[in-house]
Amino acid sequence: MQRRTFAAGLAALWLPSLARAQAPLAENPFGLGVASGHPTASSVVLWTRLLAADPTAAPGGPVTVDWTIAADERMRQFVRSGQAVAEPAWGHSVHVDVDGLEPNRPYWYRFTVAGKASPTGRTRTAPAPGERLAALDFAVASCQQYEQGYYAAWRHMAAEELNAVLFVGDYIYETSWGHDLVRHHGSGRTLTLADYRNRYALYKSDPDLQAAHAAHPFIVTWDDHEVVNDYANDISPTDPDPKTFLAVRAAAYQAYWEHMPLPNALRPAGSAMRLYDRFRFGDLVDLHVIDDRQYRAHNACRAELKPGRMITDCAERLDPARTMLGAEQEAWFASGMKAASARWNLVAQQTLMAELDRSKEGGRHTFWADGWDGYPMARQKLIDAIAASPVRDTVVVGGDVHSFWVTELKQDFTQPKSATVATEFVGGSITSQGPPEKALQEILPHNPHITYAKSGIYGYGLVTFSPKSATLQVRTVQSIKDAKSPIATAARFVVEAGQPGAKPA
Ligand code: FE
Ligand code: CA
Repeated sequence: MQRRTFAAGLAALWLPSLARAQAPLAENPFGLGVASGHPTASSVVLWTRLLAADPTAAPGGPVTVDWTIAADERMRQFVRSGQAVAEPAWGHSVHVDVDGLEPNRPYWYRFTVAGKASPTGRTRTAPAPGERLAALDFAVASCQQYEQGYYAAWRHMAAEELNAVLFVGDYIYETSWGHDLVRHHGSGRTLTLADYRNRYALYKSDPDLQAAHAAHPFIVTWDDHEVVNDYANDISPTDPDPKTFLAVRAAAYQAYWEHMPLPNALRPAGSAMRLYDRFRFGDLVDLHVIDDRQYRAHNACRAELKPGRMITDCAERLDPARTMLGAEQEAWFASGMKAASARWNLVAQQTLMAELDRSKEGGRHTFWADGWDGYPMARQKLIDAIAASPVRDTVVVGGDVHSFWVTELKQDFTQPKSATVATEFVGGSITSQGPPEKALQEILPHNPHITYAKSGIYGYGLVTFSPKSATLQVRTVQSIKDAKSPIATAARFVVEAGQPGAKPA
């Protein structure tokens, strides 16, 4: 009886003009959870994606979804509501740009379709530009290989007091890898739009990840595994033909947009999608989010690159024409740094930015071609732009290297006494397996600008800003093999305003 009412309700929602067979929605159409993101002082984006009963069936027609946002957790103090259309061409994803909100306060939201309500999510608007703030709290997360661990870290993050979560890349992995897997993708390498959609759906089916999304707004950027490992612009190591690779990139970018709480304005066009953006948090933080994958030059000395992608004596590495951000984003970054006026600059990006000479004691300098070390002149430009900002204090956060790092970003990495321009905090890995801890500690003595490096631990970073200091916390779960693992603070550092570089605290 109930089922029939549900089906009848659904039929009324499908547009009647569509001739092809309609795939019914799943019993729980909100099985991928809800999310919010891209907060400004007056707006947020609300997200969900409707699940079909049979995810392999041809997509049905457009579906109208109702949304409501309220000022209280029980959704009694109505603020706004409306309808959005989940379009089959966009995977029945729903992206609602809600504006007219008040700054710096929580809101609660939910969706309904065919008489079924989604879980209630909580979000938060950014403080008004210029509002005097005593503190801001951000979490930094990246790298959540689904097979290598459970998402206990996400469940703990849901309980943190945060203004926003910064997710800096590797939301999905396109292949299976690693040892001691706790669960499985159940499918091979992602190549098509359907493959990428199914991979996101699998990751997003995890209740702990859903809890984090339902608790905080996310500000996101991507790294390589949202498309293919170590891809650079229009090619990847497994697909050096731009024609075929760009078709994969278009599918991957579309699925990314479909599954992230990103505004409608950022919808990708073909294989292009602008993701870099800027956010203002009161008088305390100017946040600059960058994309170092889409526009970068190909790896240096590509012909000689072996798996592992390490390079020594590669003159091409130092070519000043080699870009990481592309000319347009580089200019955007430099002008944003010049115009910044908050107490702190915060740069959210993909990977370790500090130079890391990976040579064994006494050996020739060895660098990783895929990271910033493969693009040292582009890094220099970025550091010069940070140094030219009227805002004296900058914190750079990153991910990708599956370990935690605190470093000093030097004006000149070849001179240990050179000025420190900014403080870097790489906020670990949710579950993706990191490098051997012993190998990492061996290379630290000849990289003196590195304050802290730790592998073999998993979790996320917390960054708290006040007018006088920034606090960096390494939050780690006891075991990624235990979905109920407790969390603890493994290390804590403080950056005093006016003195870049972090000290243990
Ligand atoms: Fe990763
Ligand atoms: Ca990566």
